[in-house]
Amino acid sequence: MPDLDGKLTPTEAEMVRQKLASFWKTYGAVACPVCREDNWQIGPAVVAPPKITPGGVLVLHGVQFPYVPVMCLVCGHTIFFNGVHLGLFPPLKVPPST
Ligand SMILES: [Zn+2]
Repeated sequence: MPDLDGKLTPTEAEMVRQKLASFWKTYGAVACPVCREDNWQIGPAVVAPPKITPGGVLVLHGVQFPYVPVMCLVCGHTIFFNGVHLGLFPPLKVPPST
């Protein structure tokens, strides 16, 4: 699991690199939707976009959704991969509804 600053350990960074390489191999090279190049860099840390209420208030408590940013080195466009799906975090355990 990433450290308290969200930074990936070298082992985790390598795990993410291998998973993305597997995706790229399975589905083909991923061209950037902006510049059409295929030159990506995995971000050094996990991020979590804040949730927002219908009234526009940021929600900074409760469950957060971790993502690994992957940035196009040509234009800066960034895509995100779910940190749970990548195996960096355990799956969320949702209590059964009553
Ligand atoms: Zn690009």
